[in-house]
Amino acid sequence: RRTNSRFAINIAGDGAHEASNRPLVEDLRRALNDGDRQLFVTFQPKIDLRKGRVDGVEALVRWRHPARGLVFPDAFIPLAEDAGLIDRLTLHVLNHSLAQQAAWRAEGIDLSIAVNVSAKTLQNPRLPLHAKNMIEAWSADPSRVIFEITESAIILDVERATATLQGLDRLGVGISIDDFGTGYTCLSYIRRLPVEEIKVDKSFVMGMSKSPDDWVIVSSLIELGHNLGLSVVAEGVEDARTLAALTELGCDVAQGYHMSRPLPADDLVGWLVNSPW
Ligand code: C2E
Ligand code: CA
Ligand code: CA
Ligand code: CA
Repeated sequence: RRTNSRFAINIAGDGAHEASNRPLVEDLRRALNDGDRQLFVTFQPKIDLRKGRVDGVEALVRWRHPARGLVFPDAFIPLAEDAGLIDRLTLHVLNHSLAQQAAWRAEGIDLSIAVNVSAKTLQNPRLPLHAKNMIEAWSADPSRVIFEITESAIILDVERATATLQGLDRLGVGISIDDFGTGYTCLSYIRRLPVEEIKVDKSFVMGMSKSPDDWVIVSSLIELGHNLGLSVVAEGVEDARTLAALTELGCDVAQGYHMSRPLPADDLVGWLVNSPW
């Protein structure tokens, strides 16, 4: 498949066209062979609102490109998907996240790790086996590993996605539905799939302290999630009022810039020491 034009717009605001992405694909291939020097993981804390403390972190990948500087995932995940590199990228992020989790564990810091899985990777029947091998290699507790998937990833091919999810579930890891509320309504699937968490999309959460409509949507999704027996995470919490409202609504977990931006591993420990959570 050709590189899509969405990516060309994202990465090359200078009006470059598709062909100019080809060297970037080669750069990405090289980056994947370069350990964590170029493709590194940042970690954003997830606050357990009942316990009032950090329960875990979401792994968010960054690319330190030798010439272009820091590149954000929205600019290269689509490229990785088109170039057939996304499965490798996912395993790269999983490996470095589990390594970091093991390092924290050795310091007595217990954090769950959430890793994003693209729609395409969810179609790969070998994902559970790769995940199992890595989890065992790092002696990770599977119940402290979460895979975040999107609704559209399930819809793409329900049977294949279901098979992969069941394989992951057998490992004892958690499955979370990301960007909840923005995709197709697939509540019937969610009921049947081994899902334990929904993440209410940040587009509703960010404005809920100002927009009554968003407030209604968020509170309804929290209630819906709880009625389905799921844990509910709100992402995109940008102010104290939103955090207080979510706590009042019984939301389980909150994540957002108000608490912390995604941080390099070294900065996260300092943040943990100084934060009220
Ligand atoms: P996502 O999984 O929905 O991740 C949340 C995004 O929102 C992250 O952007 C995060 O930095 C940002 N964010 C967190 N808190 C706030 C907030 O309070 N306000 C606002 N406005 N934004 C907030 P980021 O890191 O740029 O990642 C963008 C997307 O790229 C992610 O969306 C995810 O879909 C994808 N992505 C990131 N890392 C990976 C990865 O390792 N693998 C895959 N397949 N996708 C990834
Ligand atoms: Ca996510
Ligand atoms: Ca499960
Ligand atoms: Ca999200």
